[in-house]
Amino acid sequence: MQKIKKGDLVQVISGNEIGVRGEVDRVLKGWAIDRFNKRTGRNPDRDKLLIKGVNVRKKHQRPISQTRTQTGIIDKELPVHVSNVMLVCPNCDEAARVGFRVEGDKKVRFCKRCQATIDKI
Ligand SMILES: [Zn+2]
Repeated sequence: MQKIKKGDLVQVISGNEIGVRGEVDRVLKGWAIDRFNKRTGRNPDRDKLLIKGVNVRKKHQRPISQTRTQTGIIDKELPVHVSNVMLVCPNCDEAARVGFRVEGDKKVRFCKRCQATIDKI
């Protein structure tokens, strides 16, 4: 189970955008090849997030077909690593660390600051 999911509100905790909040648009899971076991698996060190309004860069988008509507110089969000953001707790409205616990027969995330459950049961 991952600590940050799509649709979560997160706050940037490092870099030149410290304190900026945004909604997670997409979670990019980092896949890596384990050279020792010759297997493919998920590497959390490479997990990144696309966050609305965070790490926005100018991109020169070339028109390639009629289907590409946004061309020219456009604003585009670039991925941010999961370790550079913290989840904003919906209960206490602060960036908080996330823990896991079992409620009923479901594993849910909770805020370590105020102990409130983040996921709906
Ligand atoms: Zn909280």
